[in-house]
Amino acid sequence: MLKVALLIIDIQEDFLPPNGTLVVPNGREVIEQITKLCDLSKYPWLAVAVTQDWHPPNHTSFASQHGVEPFTDVEFEHPLEEKNACTGKVKTKVQTVWPDHCVQGTFGASIEKSIMETYYKLPEELPKIVVQKGCLHDREYYLCFSDVWKLHKTDLEDFLLKNDINHVVCVGLAYDFCVLNSAIDSQMSGFSTAVLKNCCRSVYQDKIAETEKLYGDAGVALFESIDEYLTSLKK
Ligand SMILES: [Zn+2]
Repeated sequence: MLKVALLIIDIQEDFLPPNGTLVVPNGREVIEQITKLCDLSKYPWLAVAVTQDWHPPNHTSFASQHGVEPFTDVEFEHPLEEKNACTGKVKTKVQTVWPDHCVQGTFGASIEKSIMETYYKLPEELPKIVVQKGCLHDREYYLCFSDVWKLHKTDLEDFLLKNDINHVVCVGLAYDFCVLNSAIDSQMSGFSTAVLKNCCRSVYQDKIAETEKLYGDAGVALFESIDEYLTSLKK
């Protein structure tokens, strides 16, 4: 039997137009849809998790820490200097760096107001959690489950396991970064995973086909809307 959690990813002011520092185009359009999803009389969620990018001011994903322009690719070394056994060299990853965003305690880091109001109105008995990620300054967190090096786990996986969840439905920002990587990680962690496309927006809207190939290769199910998803459950 499917035991489903709703995962609401990074609906934070810095990702939202018009004033965010790292705006996902049209990101604000998903808010109304997502608040409607929190109606438990209509939808099958047994738990709800809301994620929050939550960086210290010197976070390594900020271009300002590297003296380069935002959206540049930078080579990062493994935070614990783990070495490749064959080459003896410290492992590296090339990642895009961003404008400063979601700095702990700032307005930009706050979860959009109506999302939080909806979250607080969820039934008291429903398991729910706000999962903060990106707290350690020396590593990027595209995924909600852990940092990109999989060294530091957030509270999300334990929360899902504790509540016997085996299926996760993802919505939020951005479709081609945090939602993508979180959905793939969720699927690889043993939760069958779906994404509702009309509740997500992308940073790079011209690369949707590439993004969706990554979802498909990982076995994540994509649905246009909650209605299409619910129909699939009846089949
Ligand atoms: Zn971030």
